[in-house]
Amino acid sequence: MTDAAIEIEGLTKVYEGGKRALDTVSLSIPRGQIFGLLGPNGAGKSTMINILAGLVTKTAGSARIWGFDIDEHPRNAKNSIGIVNQEILFDPFFTPFETLENQAGYYGVPKAQRRTMELLRAVHLEDKADAYARTLSGGMKRRLMVAKAMVHSPPILVLDEPTAGVDILLRQQLWDYVRGLNEQGVTIVLTTHYLEEAEELCDRIAIINHGRLIANKPTRELVNMAQEKIVRVTVDRPIDQVVEDLPDHPCFDRVERTGDQMLSITYHKDRTNAGEVLKAVNDLGFHIIDVATQEPDLEDVFLHLTAPAE
Ligand code: ADP
Ligand code: MG
Repeated sequence: MTDAAIEIEGLTKVYEGGKRALDTVSLSIPRGQIFGLLGPNGAGKSTMINILAGLVTKTAGSARIWGFDIDEHPRNAKNSIGIVNQEILFDPFFTPFETLENQAGYYGVPKAQRRTMELLRAVHLEDKADAYARTLSGGMKRRLMVAKAMVHSPPILVLDEPTAGVDILLRQQLWDYVRGLNEQGVTIVLTTHYLEEAEELCDRIAIINHGRLIANKPTRELVNMAQEKIVRVTVDRPIDQVVEDLPDHPCFDRVERTGDQMLSITYHKDRTNAGEVLKAVNDLGFHIIDVATQEPDLEDVFLHLTAPAE
C-alpha cells in the first residue's frame, strides 16, 4: 500500500503516428491535497488524465490510483477516482437528474445511497434538475459534469481544465464547491494552463512541458524559485534621463527609470533583499518617498522553467 492518492511511474504515451505525448513521467500525488498539474497547451496533461481514466492506453510505465494498479485492479482503480474531462460529453436528451441517476446505476450505487438532488444543489443546478441537458449553458454543463464525477463518492476528484467556458462568478462557485470537497477529505487534482488559478488553489504544483515533468513542489516553494524580485521606489528629486547616469549599485540586477522620480530595481532574491536595495538607494544620495515591491508570480517561474536552455 502507498500513502499517495495517485502514484505514476515512468508513464509514457506515444500516439499512433509517433507523437510522444508523455515521456517517462514519475509523479506522486499526496492524499488530501489540492494538486495542480500545470502546463501549456499540448504539454500532455489530458493524456495523463485520460490514461488514469482508462480512456487512453499507455505505451509504458505504471499508475496506481488509491493504491490500485490500473492494469491489475482496473475496477477498484476506476471506483477510486472521479474525472471531469476537458471535453463536455453526455447525452443531450437526458435531464441533469437522469444523467446523475444513470451514472449512479453505471457505478452500481444502490438507490438508497444515491445523492442526486444533493449533488445538483451543490453545483447550483437544482432548478435545472428536469431540463434537457442540451438546453444548459456551457458553464452549467461543466458543473453537471462535476456532479456526475462525484456520483460514486470517489476519494479523488480530477478536473481537466475545469474553467474552460465557465464565467467568473460560476468559476468562483465551482472553486468553493471544490474547496468544500477537499475540506471533507477529497483529494483534488486539477489541470490548468492558468498560472494564477494553480497558484490560488493548489497546495502543490507539478509542471509538465513537452510530455516531461519539469517541476513538482509545494506552491510556495515553486513561487520562491522565481529568481527575480522588483522593488519600485519613488525618490525626492528628479532622476537623470540618461541611462548611463542612473544610480547603480552591486546589489542591483537592473535599474529602470519609470518616471521623473521613479526607479524600478530588479534584484536577485538569493543575493540580496529589499532592505539592502533601499539602503543602497539611500547611500546613492536619494531620499525614498514611497516603495512598492512586486512578488514573483508563477508566470515568472513558469517562463523560467520552460525556457529553452541557453
Ligand atoms: P494538454 O492536455 O496538456 O493540452 P494533450 O495531452 O491533449 O495536452 O496532448 C499532448 C500532445 O499529444 C499534443 O501534441 C497533442 O497534439 C497530442 N495528442 C493528443 N491526443 C492525440 C491523439 N489522439 N492522437 C495523436 N496525438 C495526440
Ligand atoms: Mg488538455
